[in-house]
Order: sequence, then C-alpha cells, then structure tokens
Amino acid sequence: MIHLEISTSHTSEMVDITEMVHEAVIKKGIRSGLVTVFVPHTTASVILFENIDPQLRRDFLEALGRVAPASHPYHHQGENAAAHIKSALCGPRVVVPMEEARLQLGEWQGIFLCEFDGPRDRRVIVQVVNG
Ligand code: ZN
Repeated sequence: MIHLEISTSHTSEMVDITEMVHEAVIKKGIRSGLVTVFVPHTTASVILFENIDPQLRRDFLEALGRVAPASHPYHHQGENAAAHIKSALCGPRVVVPMEEARLQLGEWQGIFLCEFDGPRDRRVIVQVVNG
C-alpha cells in the first residue's frame, strides 16, 4: 500500500495527481494491475476528469456549488455540510488499469484529488491489485 501526502491550498480545488500516482506505483516495481486510488476523507474526493483545460475544473467546481451551495441552511453542526455533500457525490476512489508500466487512461483523462474543505493536508491511498 502506498500513501501519498497532498497539501491543498484553496477551499475548493482540483489537484492533478496522475503523475504522482504513476511514479509511486513504478517506484514499487509494479508494471501491471488494477491501480486503486482512494481518499479516506469525507470532504474530499478522487475522480477522473478532463486534464487539459483548467477552466473546465472551475466549471465543475461551480456546478457542484450550484448543487450544494455554501450558503444553504444545512442541519449539520459543522460548517462544512456542502463539502460533505460534494464529496459523497464525487466519491472516494477510482480504479485504473495499468499495463507495461503505463496507466491506461484515455488521452484526456487525469486522476484528480478534489478538495472541498481546504486548505488541508490530505492523504491518498494507492493500492495495486495484480492482474
Ligand atoms: Zn462536518
């Protein structure tokens, strides 16, 4: 199991962790298998997303903000109900096949850590199931 530490710098942001994940797996000497990338937090997510246009990340975060606006009168005691909702909608994990030391992502796909309640230090767990 591989642990990645990522410090986010904004309340909401998307961090491309594709290279970090790939390098960590390669360093373990693993060349093929199912790479699972999991975030053990309830106000962050790991998703696959378009990896070229940073404006599209803004669009995505704004769209989530329309689904769970920060200003809504939530029942949750903390002040981060919107972040919990966004995290649940986006999910905690992705699974990416790897073959011949290459993640089999589509040309426009990247692995992103989504921060919804930052800035914070986040932990991402990577585990490879050999196949
Ligand atoms: Zn909370």
